[in-house]
Amino acid sequence: MSDTEIIAPGLDAAIAANLARVRGTIAEACARANRPADAVTLVAVSKTHPAEAVRAALAAGQAVFGENRVQEAEGKFPALRQDHPGLRLHIIGGLQTNKARDAVRVADCIESLDRPRLAAAIAEAMGKEGRRPDLLVQVNTGDEPQKAGVARAEADDFIRACRDEYGLAPKGLMCIPPAGEDPRPHFEYLAALAAKHGLAVLSMGMSGDYATAIACGATHVRVGTAIFGAR
Ligand SMILES: *Cc1c(COP(=O)(O)O)cnc(C)c1O
Repeated sequence: MSDTEIIAPGLDAAIAANLARVRGTIAEACARANRPADAVTLVAVSKTHPAEAVRAALAAGQAVFGENRVQEAEGKFPALRQDHPGLRLHIIGGLQTNKARDAVRVADCIESLDRPRLAAAIAEAMGKEGRRPDLLVQVNTGDEPQKAGVARAEADDFIRACRDEYGLAPKGLMCIPPAGEDPRPHFEYLAALAAKHGLAVLSMGMSGDYATAIACGATHVRVGTAIFGAR
């Protein structure tokens, strides 16, 4: 046996095992909720982890990834995309208006649409780039001052304005419940808001609460730590 074979399983095997476990938890949560196993898309959140970690996940069959910073995404993903044309990248972090064009260029889905100026910038960037990534409206369900997302009281008007004033057609909603609170009321609120507006996509649930989110109707869960380890 060569030295390399003696070395502990390492990154690739750990990520493959973590992915298998997360997929199992998703399947169980879907079964408990009487939802088909393919009702939920796993978005593997690779922020702060190197491209090699993403490659390990790709090798284990994962195709959808999430990054919260546009600049980091631009550094990591163009090369990965060349080798994996089916890869899909979601931008999940708060987005500065001056990064809208870069986000439109790099992303297949922008989950953090949360204010009129950003809607205008994204609409303009889509025109210039000839690219229309999917869009989700981020709702600040806990109305936390430091957090991105449209405030609860403004969510209805903003969702309508995206369609009517900016010509954007958001596919759904995203939220990050306040840390340390029961996430369930936040997930239920988001699901009701999406239903009210006829929106099909619900991006909610992270490493600590994705099974709960699936019980509440999540169609996308954003899982980082449980796949790639601590940041
Ligand atoms: C980092 C991040 C996640 C993943 O969080 P984990 O707890 O590591 O699973 C999900 N959503 C957003 C918006 C994030 O920034």
